[in-house]
Amino acid sequence: MPDKIEIGNILVERGEFKKGSIKGIELANGVSIDIPLMVINGVEDGPTLLLMSTQHGIEIQGIEVIHKIIREKLSFKHLRGAVIGIPVGNPLAFMHQQYLSWTDNLDVGRVNATLPNGNATEKLAYALWTEAWSIADLIINIHCNTRPDSLIYQAINVSNPKTKEKLKKMAEVFGVTTIFSSDPIQENALPTLNNLAAQKGTPVILEELIDGRWISEPSTSVGVKGVLNIMKAFNMIDGNIEPQIGIPIVPGVNRFHGMAHANHGGLIRFLKKPGEPIKKGEVYAEVYNLYGDTVEQIEMPVDGYIWAYPCAKSLGTSGGLQVVQTGSNVAYVFTHEG
Ligand SMILES: [Zn+2]
Repeated sequence: MPDKIEIGNILVERGEFKKGSIKGIELANGVSIDIPLMVINGVEDGPTLLLMSTQHGIEIQGIEVIHKIIREKLSFKHLRGAVIGIPVGNPLAFMHQQYLSWTDNLDVGRVNATLPNGNATEKLAYALWTEAWSIADLIINIHCNTRPDSLIYQAINVSNPKTKEKLKKMAEVFGVTTIFSSDPIQENALPTLNNLAAQKGTPVILEELIDGRWISEPSTSVGVKGVLNIMKAFNMIDGNIEPQIGIPIVPGVNRFHGMAHANHGGLIRFLKKPGEPIKKGEVYAEVYNLYGDTVEQIEMPVDGYIWAYPCAKSLGTSGGLQVVQTGSNVAYVFTHEG
C-alpha cells in the first residue's frame, strides 16, 4: 500500500479519514451524478480493502455495513493498510430506487469497464475500475436478496489460481453459506469489473445479505462481523475470528444449480424455507390463480436447497411482488457437495 491514497477528489495520507467522490456522469441539466467515497488510511502498512455496496440500486444493507465499519469499528491507529468504502456503486440506479441504471437499464457490474467514452453505465464502471477497483488488494462486493427470510450467502469463483486461496480464506472467515463456482473466465469475456479484477489477480468476494430494501438485522451484524473477520485474517486489524451465529448456514461446498421459473401466472405461496433441505421432486411452491385454484405445483429439480425466492419482475427488478407469470423467476436452487 502506498503512503498516500489518491482516489476521486481526495488525497488520504496515513492516519487520515476522508470523504469525497469519484466523478461520475452529468445529466442534461448539468447535475453531476458522482460515486460517493469514504477512505480510512491506517498508520501502518498493509493491504487496501475495497468495500462496495449497492451495485444494484435497491440493495441498501451494505451501506449500513460500510458506515459501521469505517465510522465506528476502525481507527487509523489500529489499522494496517486502508479501507475504501463505496456505499453506492451505481448512483444512477440508487437515485431512482431501481435495480439498474435508469438511463440505460444496465448493470454497472456487467458492462465493459474499460471504456472512458462509453454509455452512462459503462462510464460509471470505467470510473469504478480506474479509481477504486484497480488499486484494491481485496474487494468485498455487498449485495442483498430482497426477502427477509432468504439465506445469507457468499459466492466465490475458485477457477483462478491467482485468487483461489485468498478467496477460500475470505469465505471461510466471513463465515456464511458459500456457493462455489469453478467456471474459468473465458479469454474473450467482456472486461467487466469482476473479470478485470480476476485478470489482475485481485480477489473479489460477493456477499449477499437479506431484506435488501431495509436496514435490518441480522444483515447488519453478519455483514460487519464478516468484514472484520476478513480484516483480521489478512492482518489488517488484531483480534480473533468470530463465528457467525443465529443464522442458518449450509456448510461446506455448495454450487448454484439454476434459477427455477414459473409456467403459469398468479400469486405464489412457498412451502419450504430457504436453507431447508429439499428432495428432488418435492413441491416447494404453488402458483394459484385469482379464484384461489392451485394452477401449478413447482417441484425441486434436484436434491438441494433454495437460497431465496426472488418472485416477480418489475423494471428489471426481482422480488417486486409475490406474484408470477410464465417465465418469472421463482427460486435460486443450489446443491451441496458432502
Ligand atoms: Zn445485487
